[in-house]
This record gives sequence, structure tokens and C-alpha cells, in this order.
Amino acid sequence: MKTTAIVLAGGSGKRMNSTVKKQFLMLKDKPLLYYSLKAFEDSFIDSVILVASGEDMEYCRKEIVQKYRFNKVEKIVEGGKERYHSVTNGVMAAPVCDYIFIHDGARPFITGSILERLFEEVKISKACVAGMPVKDTIKIADSQGYIETTPKRDLVWMIQTPQVFSYELIYRAYDILQKEETRLLKEGISITDDAMVVETLLGEKVKLVEGSYRNIKITTPEDLSVAEGFLQD
Ligand code: C5P
Repeated sequence: MKTTAIVLAGGSGKRMNSTVKKQFLMLKDKPLLYYSLKAFEDSFIDSVILVASGEDMEYCRKEIVQKYRFNKVEKIVEGGKERYHSVTNGVMAAPVCDYIFIHDGARPFITGSILERLFEEVKISKACVAGMPVKDTIKIADSQGYIETTPKRDLVWMIQTPQVFSYELIYRAYDILQKEETRLLKEGISITDDAMVVETLLGEKVKLVEGSYRNIKITTPEDLSVAEGFLQD
């Protein structure tokens, strides 16, 4: 069984309000991106495709991949404007394999046991994503900011990464996405994760797998303080 991870670090990190892009901010004494690459390096994953924006590719190569000897990083490829463009470039650059794990580089607390759980599930269902049941009540609002509906809380999950798919499925989904992008945009569909691409374009079912409440995405400055706290535990 050959497995590849696509680690995404091609975002602009605008919501962090920092001059340093969030994926390169220091967490303890290492750049944020170090932590997820380290988890894949220490796991059963065979190879890693790192996606970075064009201007950061050299920095990633020298200051992260070479410096910390991430030998599984096979290629660094250029990202795109939206996350799904970056994923497309990663999927197209990945070696032919059995399963692809797509992970946000901004989620440093991915663990070996989450990877194992996903791997076991994807062998059965071909498509699965890490997530956790929500703790808060969730409301769906209308465009005026009034509550429209209240979904049953035990059915609402917050979705994390990794999102894991059989190679054949994810390649087909992103290939179709490239061809159908204009139509989807016209219909006002915005694509925020990989499961959505598989659900919407292939009509395939995607299984939810327990991630962890610690598997947070570092997006705003408050998240950095939480992450520092986790590292001290
Ligand atoms: O923007 P968001 O928080 O959804 O980004 C999730 C992950 O996707 C981050 O690790 C970010 O670096 C990556 N990303 C990317 N290319 C983009 C946008 C986001 O690789 N164009």
C-alpha cells in the first residue's frame, strides 16, 4: 500500500495580521509548518508533496525541508489562488499511489493515532475526513443575520484535516473540478474542503473519523496562544 501526503502551506495567512506568514511563524522554537511535516515524517506515510506559494518555495526547501531533514518530502510544488487550486496542484504532482492524505500545514497537532484511524477507515470507505462533534449549538443564519434553523447538535461536526481518499477517487474529483470550476463559481458554490469536491462532483459518500479537539487550525493570533499552551502540556 503506497500512501502520499499533500501538506498545504500555500495560503496568505491574512487573518493572522502578521508580517510573517502564519505557516512560518515560530511555535516554541520551530516554524509552525515543522510540526505537521514531522508527524508525517515519523508515520507510515511513504512520501510527502509540500505545496507552498511561489515566493516561499526556496525558503521551504532550505529552512524547513533541508534543515530538519524531512526525507519524505519528494517535491515542493507551487500553490494557487484558492486552497482548492493548491490541492489540485498537489494531487496532479503526487506519484501514482493507493491513498492520498490531504493536510493543512496550519494544523500542527496532527498525531500518529489520527493518521492510523484514517488509514484504517479509508481502506474500507475510500473517502474519509477527520472531524469532531461540535460542543456549541450551531445556528444557520439567513442573509439578514436572523436565525433560520438549528441543526440537531449530535449530527453536527467540525471538519478538520487530514482528509483521505483513494488515489483514483481524488484524482478524478480534482480533474473534474478543473473542468467544471467556472460553472460551480457561477452557481455560487464555494469549495472549502476536499470532501466537498468528492461529495459534489462525484456524489460519493465520505465517512467521518474521530480527529481530536487539539487538532486545531492556526488561523488568528488567539490560536497561537492556545497552541503554545498545548505544547507546554
Ligand atoms: O485559508 P485556510 O485557513 O482555509 O487554509 C488552510 C490551509 O490551506 C493552510 O495550511 C493554508 O496554507 C493552505 N492554503 C493553500 N493555498 C491557498 C490557501 C490556503 O495551500 N491558496
